[in-house]
Amino acid sequence: MAPSRRRQSKHLRPARPLAAGHASSVVKTDGRWVVRPIAGASAVKEYRCPGCDQIIRPGTPHVVVWPADPGLGFVSGTEQRRHWHNSCWTRRR
Ligand SMILES: [Zn+2]
Repeated sequence: MAPSRRRQSKHLRPARPLAAGHASSVVKTDGRWVVRPIAGASAVKEYRCPGCDQIIRPGTPHVVVWPADPGLGFVSGTEQRRHWHNSCWTRRR
């Protein structure tokens, strides 16, 4: 695919489940989660990973996840976003 073609209509094209950088959803024991990979270059802040309670340092590729189905009292699942290390999220059941 030509680079110029990949760049166009970034916000309009439908998500492809297997394309890097796009949100996808996974099912864990407590429900369905939307997962979006964050590239190291895009990680400019520190986050605390709920899996290991350690800091995710800037520049570390990781994932941001949120519930596909918002909990009670939340308008959108994105209000419940959490940043996880790739390995911690993979280990999570
Ligand atoms: Zn972690």
